[in-house]
Amino acid sequence: MKEVPGGGKADLIKKALEFPVMSLQSCRLCPRECAVDREVSIGFCEQTEVPRISSAVLHFGEEPPLVGRGGSGTVFFCGCSMRCVYCQNFMISQKNNGTDISVEELSEVFLKLQYEGAENINLVTPTAHLSGILASLGLAMSNGLNIPIVYNTSGYERAEVIRLLDGIIDIYLADIRYTDDTKGQKYSGTNDYWTVTRNAIKEMYKQVGAFSDRRYDAPKGIILRHLVLPEGVSGTNAMGEYVAYELSSSVPISLMSQYRPVFHARDYPEISRRITEREYEDALSSIDQYGLTGWYQHFSGTESLRVKPLGRRE
Ligand code: SF4
Repeated sequence: MKEVPGGGKADLIKKALEFPVMSLQSCRLCPRECAVDREVSIGFCEQTEVPRISSAVLHFGEEPPLVGRGGSGTVFFCGCSMRCVYCQNFMISQKNNGTDISVEELSEVFLKLQYEGAENINLVTPTAHLSGILASLGLAMSNGLNIPIVYNTSGYERAEVIRLLDGIIDIYLADIRYTDDTKGQKYSGTNDYWTVTRNAIKEMYKQVGAFSDRRYDAPKGIILRHLVLPEGVSGTNAMGEYVAYELSSSVPISLMSQYRPVFHARDYPEISRRITEREYEDALSSIDQYGLTGWYQHFSGTESLRVKPLGRRE
């Protein structure tokens, strides 16, 4: 079994849970800061005080180093702090399709994934359930959980909350959806997406650095995902500039071509289609221009894995 760097995670979890922001009595876990008591009410994410998951599986469609041989032990949490009109997971994130799960049961889910060979525990859209997740992780760690923990997020996070995860999370898998607040407002109902996200990502980078599966005993670092949207909506060039100049060109980018106009996307003519090959090529050129590395998807979308390293395209 691999050793996770930075032992003592159980202690860090205990300390993190003592911070007032972890209380669900006046929930401020995400940038929405609804301040609702989730035992009696629900906020923007429509989640109660009980963790709720849609599924827990060994996932082989994530970035290659996260999949390894055993697959990524992926747990999909319900609820989201964003309302993307094109959300590819809208049944889970916005329709709340899932099952309530206790802290004890969730810790067993984590342990079962490890037992089945998972390379890591991949927490998808975890923030609304962060308190319960940390309690479950602490319990699971006391029972032998020792694979890396992945925080898989839209990027729209409070830097103050992310700071509490220092030493607990090994890998941040964060989206950069837009590089312009007005786009976030129009397509995701968030009026400060980029203002908030760029700071949250800096905090993630500060904690773990650029992703590497060679520098440490176990994989660690940040990977940035960028879904290319039609008509330049996702702001790929500005994303490349931000990564190169405000983080590091060694931060891997996972450039995704898989956009489909699902959910309410057809109400917005400019994003009511898939991207063209030209648009994807332009996005790749922007990445190249800033000397960034990572992975890209085959444009046809017939292959699910992002198997090709950037910078070595034929
Ligand atoms: S986690 Fe949910 S209830 Fe809490 S601040 Fe965010 S949207 Fe509001």
